[in-house]
Amino acid sequence: MNKKLFIAGEWLAAESGRKMEIVSLVNGKPYGTVDLGGQADARKAVEAAQAAAKAWGKSSPSEREAILLRAADIIFRRRDDIVDILQHEAGSTFGKAMFEVGFFENIVRGAAGECRRISGTTYASDIPGVFSYSIRRPLGVVVGISPFNFPILLGGKKLAFSLAAGNAIILKPSEVTPLSGLLLAEIFHEAGVPAGVLSVIPGEGTELGDALIGHPAVKMVSFTGSTRVGKQIAETCAANLKKITLELGGKNPFIVLKDADLDHAIQAAAFSAFIHQGQVCMAGSRIIVEKELYDEFCDSFTAKASTLKVGSLEGKDTVIGPLIRRSQCDMIGDLIEDAISQGARLMTGGKWDGHVFEPTVIADVTAKMKIFHEECFGPVAVIVKAEDANHALDLANDTPYGLSSAIFTNDLKLANFFTENIEAGMVHVNGPSIRDEAIIPFGGVKNSGMGKEGGRYSIEEMTELKWITVQTDRGHFPF
Ligand code: NAD
Repeated sequence: MNKKLFIAGEWLAAESGRKMEIVSLVNGKPYGTVDLGGQADARKAVEAAQAAAKAWGKSSPSEREAILLRAADIIFRRRDDIVDILQHEAGSTFGKAMFEVGFFENIVRGAAGECRRISGTTYASDIPGVFSYSIRRPLGVVVGISPFNFPILLGGKKLAFSLAAGNAIILKPSEVTPLSGLLLAEIFHEAGVPAGVLSVIPGEGTELGDALIGHPAVKMVSFTGSTRVGKQIAETCAANLKKITLELGGKNPFIVLKDADLDHAIQAAAFSAFIHQGQVCMAGSRIIVEKELYDEFCDSFTAKASTLKVGSLEGKDTVIGPLIRRSQCDMIGDLIEDAISQGARLMTGGKWDGHVFEPTVIADVTAKMKIFHEECFGPVAVIVKAEDANHALDLANDTPYGLSSAIFTNDLKLANFFTENIEAGMVHVNGPSIRDEAIIPFGGVKNSGMGKEGGRYSIEEMTELKWITVQTDRGHFPF
């Protein structure tokens, strides 16, 4: 598979002539080549978006809805192609890839539903004879920057809601998952998105970032990725007064109180810690268990982790496949070593072969250890003992992050205490920390980001509210 850049409805070679090769994470063989975009390509895409944004911003809701519904049908029809790319390029297991494609189709249908609901408000005016109201207008040109882990879903979410809001968008997919980004271009192009309204430019963030974000025509950046890069992008946006949403990293607490349904908690904790090899922003990577259940939880959870099928992505029942980069394994290995040297217990796992890291459980972790605070982005669950519910809350909030969280208890009063006091953008009672839906306000607090994605919240972020008054009487003026 050889792919060029998708700019203004055409497949164009990169101006620099540079290309990159994608090696399959399924079989280690060459999977495809991609043109690598540079600053000149970025400028071309922004100029095309600027020219197309005006007419697109005036398109009717039903026109945009029809395009998005066609895109959803194409996603369903091409689900095998999408799954193939997600496996080879992003190292997805079959189950994760199927989940991603199904969920993405659902998100696009959700975005289609928003097109007809974009609305303002009327206000009771104190001024006699004045009709006061607001309308929402598209921003114009939006830049979407997406990460590698759910490249179809997270890149596609930005496209779908931006298009629903009436904006033109340029997507810069992760440099390690460019083919997924270009497949999104194929799908939305076939669905009928007009030329210029959508461009997809693979390339290095450091090279393309400033050219895209710094361009005066770009009004908003919708970023999903690490906190480190998010902060850099926020600085550039602040200097140019651009709107921004940041969906960043997490070290999410998964709390199990003494009255919890243990079997259910273990199943949800294993799903939250290990799906996609733990490479999920919402991963329940910090499991905090009240002391009365602690030993039983550690033993049963370790037993569950030890049964997960590890290895080749060719098997449809593989749960733990390869990490995106081999270097990630060394980084995780260092975090585990640091924890063990300070008294943590390695319950299972801890070793790796090539890109594949064994599902790993570490008990007796404390807040002194780096692994308590740092995102591993690998199949590593750490278990921390809490003296009581208050201590569990203190441990949960002892983090610079605040993305998702889960609390397992059957005590309504305690569930309410946690949902109110956990410092996180999302809290799930008796459910996994990994959850998303088409119409909910997805997003974090603290170092996990700002702004929301999903449903009407995306529309609100991606439009401007304009206040309008219409005066029907002659006004009174002081001079
Ligand atoms: P990353 O921050 O390394 O890269 C994300 C994107 O930013 C990529 O497209 C990359 O090319 C681009 N980029 C890098 N430097 C840039 C720059 N200077 N200017 C502009 N763009 C630049 O993240 P990653 O490794 O791809 O993904 C993993 C991270 O993403 C984790 O921290 C994870 O928690 C986070 N994440 C968050 C969410 C969420 O919704 N909160 C979802 C998925 C992943």
